Amino acid sequence: MPKSLNHQSALEDLHAMAGNLKADFKKMAINNVGDLLWYFPWRYDDLSDIKKIKDLSANELSSLKVKIEKIKVYRSFRQKMMITEIMASDDSGQIQATWFRQKFVSQILKAGDEVYLSGKAQKKGLFWTLINPNYEKVKANPIHSARLVPIYHLSGKLSQKQLRFLMDRALKALPYSEDPLPVDILNQEKFPWLHESLQEIHFPANEKKLLTATKRLKFQELFYLQCKYQLAKKDYQSRPSYQIALNDKIINANIKSLPFLLTTDQQKALYDVLSDLSQTRPMNRLIEGDVGSGKTIVAILAALNVISYSQQVALMAPTEILALQHFKNITKILPKKYLDELAIITRSNWQIGNGRKISKAELLTEISKGKIKFVVGTHALIQEKIKFDKLALVIIDEQHRFGVRQRKTLKEKNKGDKVPHLLSMTATPIPRTLALSLYGDLDISLIKEKPAGRQAVKTYIVPENKRADAYKFIRDKIKLGQQAFVVCPLIDESDTLGVKSVKKEYTNLNQEIFPELKIEMLHGKLKSEEKEKIMADFKKNKFPILVATSVIEVGLDIPGATIMIIEGAERFGLSQLHQFRGRIGRNDQECFCLLFTTDKSQLNKKRLTAMTKSSDGFELAELDLELRGSGEIFGNKQSGLIKLKIARLTDIELIKKAQQWAQEILNNKKYLSQENLQKTLQKLKTETHLE
Ligand code: ADP
Ligand code: MG
Repeated sequence: MPKSLNHQSALEDLHAMAGNLKADFKKMAINNVGDLLWYFPWRYDDLSDIKKIKDLSANELSSLKVKIEKIKVYRSFRQKMMITEIMASDDSGQIQATWFRQKFVSQILKAGDEVYLSGKAQKKGLFWTLINPNYEKVKANPIHSARLVPIYHLSGKLSQKQLRFLMDRALKALPYSEDPLPVDILNQEKFPWLHESLQEIHFPANEKKLLTATKRLKFQELFYLQCKYQLAKKDYQSRPSYQIALNDKIINANIKSLPFLLTTDQQKALYDVLSDLSQTRPMNRLIEGDVGSGKTIVAILAALNVISYSQQVALMAPTEILALQHFKNITKILPKKYLDELAIITRSNWQIGNGRKISKAELLTEISKGKIKFVVGTHALIQEKIKFDKLALVIIDEQHRFGVRQRKTLKEKNKGDKVPHLLSMTATPIPRTLALSLYGDLDISLIKEKPAGRQAVKTYIVPENKRADAYKFIRDKIKLGQQAFVVCPLIDESDTLGVKSVKKEYTNLNQEIFPELKIEMLHGKLKSEEKEKIMADFKKNKFPILVATSVIEVGLDIPGATIMIIEGAERFGLSQLHQFRGRIGRNDQECFCLLFTTDKSQLNKKRLTAMTKSSDGFELAELDLELRGSGEIFGNKQSGLIKLKIARLTDIELIKKAQQWAQEILNNKKYLSQENLQKTLQKLKTETHLE
């Protein structure tokens, strides 16, 4: 047995290991003993019930305990293949087992040995036979047989047996005494200790112990995640922000001048934000609202409140098109006197709200001197050498498109010691549970209610044989002056910008289907000015059909577009599909979303049918989470998603428990003085800063 090890020990400390095996482990992200122990089985074979040979049934996974009577090794005549054959028996009968190309077997098994065999038996004439069964000599604690046997996802040439062997060694070599969770938690929650939990999840004594162990390991993961969030929150809140009172007069007047009434949810969200701003403690709030629920106006009103006290606001959007749309929108909403203090900066574009001509250098100076108060932009806001004078509020639109680091950089743009208030917005409807686990450090305002008069987008799954009808339907609508989007999924991994897929669809539509119509395409390879131009033209209804990749996913307003075709709908998450169709649900006309799919699986049918029935982004997100896991909610481009090894974001009760305990532990000196907890928390803090 190896010497005593810890989680950081190298895999070689467990057993000598060939280079290619190490490479296989690396592919599985297992680089040390700790990684190995946290690599969990994805299922178990129940071999705990030992059968008698006479009770075997054909083709059923069964487990036997037998004694080897005879063993024979020979080469097959034609293929020169090594074959090992045994005859074995228990007190009820005889069985033959054969292994092909496994010469180790004959070196391990000898006549007279007692062994466990497991596999699917077949009857050949009078005899039961097993082909390539699992085998293990009978001993006190078998790991491959006669129990719940763990089955792992593997990589390369690594075998289940090798992995179990190493896992067993690691468990035996690891000291029993240490546990990273505070003892009070273990006692009060009646959790088994870490070592026992790891033992039980890999080699469970029974189902009940397996469940308990799983729960404890999930808890540990969630608990430290919550600790990390709460530490980050404390850290952010340890520096003061600007205290900005409510400027009723100006805010109320502006609300009155809007061409619509704010919904109750918008008012509530605005109230949340304005109350946060009036504190010295920095705000860290997320406005979550379905597509078209009207988040922007809330942010603009909050910004107006800030600039009315001569402090600065930065609004960052994920794409240039969107930044420009916001900028134009803001110029319509802000009182005229502020337009000279409004600017947009993207990599290729800068302007002042009232059209005043300015060089880029002058603009940067005006921002650093505090003359420009409201800056709208893209990532350029972080990358450019922009310094603010008194940046009091940072607004991040479609925040899930930005990484933690990017958000942090923007927060650090101030000259002095103060940190800005932070307001994030997302149209990705994050289920409450997911929000809790993803954004444990944020306060959340929900805008669930849609502005009055909005209609749901009528959504249909169109079978391939109705495709021609769908095109006719579109042609008729276009005759009435309406417009259509055609969204294409990426064809293959290498086509990250969607050039191939869009071109293919464009050519088809342009040459075969609608030769008489003007069609344009939009994909990631186009320069941003080209994209701008196309979107601007589409917005002005200069052409009726736009073929695009998922570039159109975020926040764009195209009032004339009433139809959307989505090709390869199975490739998108429900939330993403819902986001797409949000592009056309923004006017008073009847809108249609037509889904095409080639995937005939039940799962896909269930997902897409949900699209046709529900227009509630939150509900769809919950369903996606349930059916396909959290990654799907955001699509693949998501940055900053957390990766969980065992817990699931749907483990609501455990998440709540973990959150409560994290609060209790982090606010109680009694715990904080415990040395090993201190160490762990210190580690979490550094990890947080690395993000
Ligand atoms: P999102 O929440 O998806 O970012 P926007 O803020 O872009 O949505 O709002 C979508 C559209 O709805 C905009 O044109 C906006 O002017 C309009 N809008 C916002 N609030 C209301 C409201 N209360 N009533 C009617 N229209 C509204
Ligand atoms: Mg938006």
